Amino acid sequence: MDGIDRAGFRKLLADRLPDDVVELDPDIVDAYSRDESEFLEPGRPWALIRPRTTQEVATAVSVCAEFGVHVVPRGAGSGVAGGAVAGDGSVVICLMRMNRVLEIDTRNLLAVVEPGVLNADLCEAVRAHGLWYPPDPASREICSIGGNVATNAGGLCCVKYGVTREYVLGLEVVLADGSVVELGRRTVKGVAGYDLTALFVGSEGTLGIVTRVTVRLRPQPPAAVTLTAFFDSLRAAGEAISAISTRTTPSMLELMDRTTIRAVDDWKRMDLDTGAAALVLAQSDVGGESGAVQLDLMAGAARDAGATYVATTDDPDEGEQLLAARRLAYPSLDRLGTATMGDLCVPLGAVAEAVSAIEDRARRHGVVVGTFGHAGDGNLHPTIVFDPGAPESVRAAHAAYDAMSEAALELGGTVTGEHGIGLLKRGHLAREVGADVLDLHSRVKDALDPAGILNPGKVFGRP
Ligand SMILES: Cc1cc2nc3c(=O)[nH]c(=O)nc-3n(C[C@H](O)[C@H](O)[C@H](O)COP(=O)(O)OP(=O)(O)OC[C@H]3O[C@@H](n4cnc5c(N)ncnc54)[C@H](O)[C@@H]3O)c2cc1C
Repeated sequence: MDGIDRAGFRKLLADRLPDDVVELDPDIVDAYSRDESEFLEPGRPWALIRPRTTQEVATAVSVCAEFGVHVVPRGAGSGVAGGAVAGDGSVVICLMRMNRVLEIDTRNLLAVVEPGVLNADLCEAVRAHGLWYPPDPASREICSIGGNVATNAGGLCCVKYGVTREYVLGLEVVLADGSVVELGRRTVKGVAGYDLTALFVGSEGTLGIVTRVTVRLRPQPPAAVTLTAFFDSLRAAGEAISAISTRTTPSMLELMDRTTIRAVDDWKRMDLDTGAAALVLAQSDVGGESGAVQLDLMAGAARDAGATYVATTDDPDEGEQLLAARRLAYPSLDRLGTATMGDLCVPLGAVAEAVSAIEDRARRHGVVVGTFGHAGDGNLHPTIVFDPGAPESVRAAHAAYDAMSEAALELGGTVTGEHGIGLLKRGHLAREVGADVLDLHSRVKDALDPAGILNPGKVFGRP
């Protein structure tokens, strides 16, 4: 950030914002400069802003705009693509103090929340009213609604209920010049003008800072019934996933491979079949007799695909325990070394081929990979375990990651199903969308942030 009057900038921030909102202590500021991604070295940001109000966000952004200082919006820092990794001389604006559920409208099935509300806390708040906010990332206890909006987060229920974008009705956004706009609506339908709300969802902090979100809610569904099926090959598990998806309407359809099953069981002793090549977990939440029928159909599909063991339960607590195994997949692999989580998504019919391709690329590059994910969406998280202290291991992890992304594209898929591009996958985005569409991204960015101060270098950008 050459040529910027750092002292003048800091003074103006301090003059315009309350003392406890501006943090300049480098140790504290540095602690907010990274997220959960691997491979990336953050820079040294100049300041951390922890606003309590939209006005404070707007003030901070307008001071940054005046001095040409880069702004890195940040939620809970659970992102795995480097979207919240801060560069030298930037300012991190962390939204986690804006954490109030402002309204739960039971009649119109919506809630209005500040961006720092944790996903799990929103679910808890609306559950008290018999309502439900479906998008449920496996990280729901540690990620914010603002971060979910900015990454268009997915999760375990998305196979039936869709991703964050489908639940965002309206947004309040602070733009790159510090002005504040209201986008969207409170109605179920609405097509007035361009869908700018949808444009901001998934924009990874590059177009504006989300300071309020109006989300759609649904009634709580009936308790889910759960299928567990083990397989002696990933290909058979992939076939079961295709069959379950085409014969039934699962509310969850997840996969864990052998490495992941063993990592979870070694850690939590859950009595999983550690000799199996894959575990498929599926649920139906239609309830009553229809739920039992769905479960039978799922079990039949798993057996037809060659499952070595199939069990079903209508006990919600047992179902929740099985889901817990799935939610522990990433932290369990992370205990084996340092884990970096991929996020490939392929057409449903290509899940079996994708898992074979992942295994093949892991073998070719000599890396340990555990694959799990929302397989009912075709969304797989091949997670490479490596040793960050060994350059050869880091090189192999990078090469395997690239090769797996390439394989997903060859299968007609995408390099990210739900985590976003951030800093990590910029090259992959270029490969996926091509130069003309990349240029279109640039033109949208230039229109909304001509000075390029919002989260520069993320997604597609010029650093
Ligand atoms: C164990 C684990 C499991 C995970 N499972 C899932 C999963 O199942 N599904 C899934 O989708 N993701 C998953 N993730 C990834 C992560 O939790 C999500 O990407 C989440 O949406 C990030 O939210 P956050 O609050 O932590 O955002 P951050 O990590 O703080 O930020 C993420 C991005 O959003 C931007 N941002 C944050 N807040 C705002 C705001 N208010 N306005 C504008 N931009 C903003 C940041 O600049 C950054 O680009 C997982 C991560 C971990 C570690």
